[in-house]
Amino acid sequence: MSKNSYFAVAIDGPAASGKSTVARRLAKRLGLIMVNSGAMYRAIAWATLEQGIDAQNTAEVLTMLDQLEITCGVADGTSTILINGTDPGGALREDAVNERVSAVAAIPEVRYLLVEKQREYLQLGSLIMEGRDIGSVVFPDTPYKIYIDASEEVRLARRSAEGLKDVVSKRDAEDSKRKISPLMIADGATVIDSSEMNIDEVVEAAFQTLLEQGMKTNLQSIE
Ligand code: C5P
Repeated sequence: MSKNSYFAVAIDGPAASGKSTVARRLAKRLGLIMVNSGAMYRAIAWATLEQGIDAQNTAEVLTMLDQLEITCGVADGTSTILINGTDPGGALREDAVNERVSAVAAIPEVRYLLVEKQREYLQLGSLIMEGRDIGSVVFPDTPYKIYIDASEEVRLARRSAEGLKDVVSKRDAEDSKRKISPLMIADGATVIDSSEMNIDEVVEAAFQTLLEQGMKTNLQSIE
């Protein structure tokens, strides 16, 4: 836990597991700041595209990183990110970003920098942060940890229903096998398999999990 009274809820899981929607809805309901850590890695990947940098070339990425102005903030209760004063917006979800984000996220220096910025959010208020290493690395001491899973088949179907082509399996393989902070179920995390659940059921299960993990709230149910 942080030195102040703010707390963090960690929600981790593979690509398209539904964790963003769950995190967003829980945050709204519980009055917490919602932080999308994936957007931070995506913003660095987007910057490499903008600057014509090979994401596989660590030295080039690090030189770029040195000169990059990364501004993290909150608007309407949700995390925001500017790169050299520009909001990449919807470009963060584009195929070209999907294809290179895992390579960028495997570079230790990128992670050190972003993990520091992720922890700084706790100075602003209690929050829900979703990602891959939130319960294991960013906030390992929080009692509130959820890992949302779903079968690969279901995750692929969800992405294509959103009209997106995403390299879900490739990203998961890269995110799981990298040496630093791989995607994993953190110690103390409760796993929710959302394969056979609709989104309302997953949100409710996540909410009940937080109560079981000791969260105090006046809300007895998400509905
Ligand atoms: O969550 P999202 O799918 O937007 O994340 C995009 C990518 O960012 C992931 O595939 C992963 O490579 C990286 N990521 C990470 N650690 C996090 C969040 C995201 O490595 N905490």
